Amino acid sequence: MKDSWYDTAQICLNGHVINEKSVELPERNKKFCDQCGAVSVTACQKCNAPIPGYYHEPDLIRPEATYVAPAFCHQCGVAYSWIESRLQASREIARELEGLTDEEKETLIQSLDDIVKDTPKTTIACLRLKKLFDKAGKGTDEMFREILRDFISTTARKLLWP
Ligand SMILES: [Zn+2]
Ligand SMILES: [Zn+2]
Repeated sequence: MKDSWYDTAQICLNGHVINEKSVELPERNKKFCDQCGAVSVTACQKCNAPIPGYYHEPDLIRPEATYVAPAFCHQCGVAYSWIESRLQASREIARELEGLTDEEKETLIQSLDDIVKDTPKTTIACLRLKKLFDKAGKGTDEMFREILRDFISTTARKLLWP
């Protein structure tokens, strides 16, 4: 019997999971994402550490598609590019919101950084975002949800989009 081990995940630069078992099932690998056309990677672009994928445990088969792309590299701590690109898109939307003052837009943008990770500031960031989404008008919450929901911290997901 084999010990538990992490497979390596193949994920596109926008965060679509292509293959959570790129070592065990390399035939499922794709060079480019079939959802968005972005190139796919299996390692951190900064330090080259493999992206942890499916966790193999003897005698345990977990359902597929429960795997989510990690946010930060476990080796060097840098945010993976899908987090960066989603934050970038979210910041651009924030700047376009008409119902908010410039100061409120800044607060919104800063709060976004605090929901992709679990820190002591995550909870307050969620409260601020809820208020700002409401103030910015109908549909705002949905726009951010669409871009960010699967990529924010567990705490933030529970508070914002359970
Ligand atoms: Zn993609
Ligand atoms: Zn790294």
